[in-house]
Amino acid sequence: MPSLEEAKKKVEELVVAKGFGNTPDEIANKLLFAFIELGEAGDSWKKGRPTEETIEELIDVIFYVLDASRLISPHANLDDVFEKKWAKNMNRPHRYGEGFRGNPAT
Ligand SMILES: [Mg+2]
Repeated sequence: MPSLEEAKKKVEELVVAKGFGNTPDEIANKLLFAFIELGEAGDSWKKGRPTEETIEELIDVIFYVLDASRLISPHANLDDVFEKKWAKNMNRPHRYGEGFRGNPAT
């Protein structure tokens, strides 16, 4: 199983091999495509399609997120950022950010 950094390099390899946009001016498009793929995942789920299809759409989301991330900040180490953000969220209160639901814990 690849780490986020390894997956990011594989996405770059795919982008170069297939001639997709590979410059910072493509960042907005990549982020938009991530949303589109997320919509495809939601549509797949809503329609009761095989879970394999829904998961594949979510992987498409990850592809575009990784692709955008390397163009936004080529030297950011996503494994390190993931660990730091995970620890930050783990240190937050139970069901943090759900105060709008009337959760007394927030
Ligand atoms: Mg797709």
